[in-house]
Amino acid sequence: MALYDYDLLVVGAGSGGVRAANLAASQGIQVAIAEAQNLGGTCVNLGCVPKKLLVYASQFKAEFEAAAGFGWTVGETSFNWSRLIANKNAEVERLHAVYQNRLQKSGVTILNGKAKLLDAHTIVVADSLYSAERILLATGGRPFVPDMIGKQFIVTSNDMFYLDKLPERIVIVGGGYIAVEFASILNGLGVDTTLCHRGDKLLQGFDEDIRDFLTDAMIKQGIHLLFNTDIQTIERAGNEFAVCLLDGHTMTTDLVLYATGRLANSADLGLEVLGVALDEHGAIVVNNQYQTNLPSVYALGDVTDRVNLTPVAIAEAEAFVNSLYSQQSQPVDYDNIPTAVFCQPPIASVGLTEAEARQKYPDIDIYKTDFKPMKNTLSGKDEKTLMKMIVSCDTEQVFGMHMIGADAPEIIQGMAVAMRAGASKAIFDSTIGIHPTAAEEFVGLNKTA
Ligand code: FAD
Repeated sequence: MALYDYDLLVVGAGSGGVRAANLAASQGIQVAIAEAQNLGGTCVNLGCVPKKLLVYASQFKAEFEAAAGFGWTVGETSFNWSRLIANKNAEVERLHAVYQNRLQKSGVTILNGKAKLLDAHTIVVADSLYSAERILLATGGRPFVPDMIGKQFIVTSNDMFYLDKLPERIVIVGGGYIAVEFASILNGLGVDTTLCHRGDKLLQGFDEDIRDFLTDAMIKQGIHLLFNTDIQTIERAGNEFAVCLLDGHTMTTDLVLYATGRLANSADLGLEVLGVALDEHGAIVVNNQYQTNLPSVYALGDVTDRVNLTPVAIAEAEAFVNSLYSQQSQPVDYDNIPTAVFCQPPIASVGLTEAEARQKYPDIDIYKTDFKPMKNTLSGKDEKTLMKMIVSCDTEQVFGMHMIGADAPEIIQGMAVAMRAGASKAIFDSTIGIHPTAAEEFVGLNKTA
């Protein structure tokens, strides 16, 4: 008789957990996966997928306005939030079915319910016990909201995907990518949008030129930006909310969204009792094999709070499974991970920022251009694109590439491949461009510093 029910028990059917379960099962491993909510996790239900659908919806207004310059007369337009959310929900449900079929086809047992560890090899899900040689925790993260008077009135990104109706006015608190993306979405949908950030610039960690460019673009679009301040109290006043800032300034609004960071989902898993090490923010501590201090228990993805992105959780899941169950172990390379912010205009980056490169290397060259994209010549839209490349003076190695402008995420994905392959500035310059595109500017950028 087998010692355990399964070889591998995965807790959390999000980006990392599902990939680990499917891959392990395809290699003949007996796998079960426990999920407390919906298959697909944050990305499918409350993150990347519904967010991008809302981003698309938010771009039509500007497109309708741009159409006139190209000879189109667009009739009266109107927007129906309920229809958008219903269509988004249908797509998310379609993805649930895709995930379920794939897991079942791989031979993975799906356990519905919240899982808790009882010992190093056993979990309990909906009052039933399951044991395994190894347990993988891929329980993701959740929004963090600081304490303040009126906290009960706020919503988080989770709620934004299920609002009954679109507010006329919103105050968004935060300066990270989720705050910035929702500001663009709501502004694009015609909501009077205020972004309130306790720092002096948006998108900490991104290149300074990109951060400044975004600030200017958002102001031009009519988003109200408040820096170096925070909310002190929120009070309900009939159907609206009175928001009082630290500097005494007050505003009334229909909705307050807090996008003030995320915390690892490590509570209620039974980890403290078993002595599984957590960091000071509650993220599970793992070694480079994704193993916790309890040797049969592993963790990856957002619950370990390293690089909190879907493709990273998936890459970690592949590295985890391959290192344990196949001979082709390939560790995740955490350098030069490309990333995007789906604001308006969108941002994408790979590699070092100028400030990071200057700290690390004595001699760097900066290549930069900003220009009006061709589409905006006739659209009349007063929005430019910025591209930037950070290069070693000595070796011409490309340390970083940054872009804000239409299609930046689509363009930087390809640039990340070139950087990973070690393409020097000379290789970029000797590559023939595709004309007329914005991307061709990256082949042959002129030095600016
Ligand atoms: P998750 O996908 O969060 O999955 C964890 C799963 O575990 C969940 O389904 C949860 O219900 C389940 N779970 C938790 N506790 C238990 C328990 N005790 N028992 C059973 N199940 C449990 N990333 C990108 O790459 N691109 C983007 O554009 C992007 N946009 C985002 C937008 C938003 C608004 C948010 C919030 C996130 C976004 N992300 C994006 C981040 C991305 O969603 C996460 O990095 C990714 O989902 C992490 O995958 P994971 O497997 O670690 O966890």
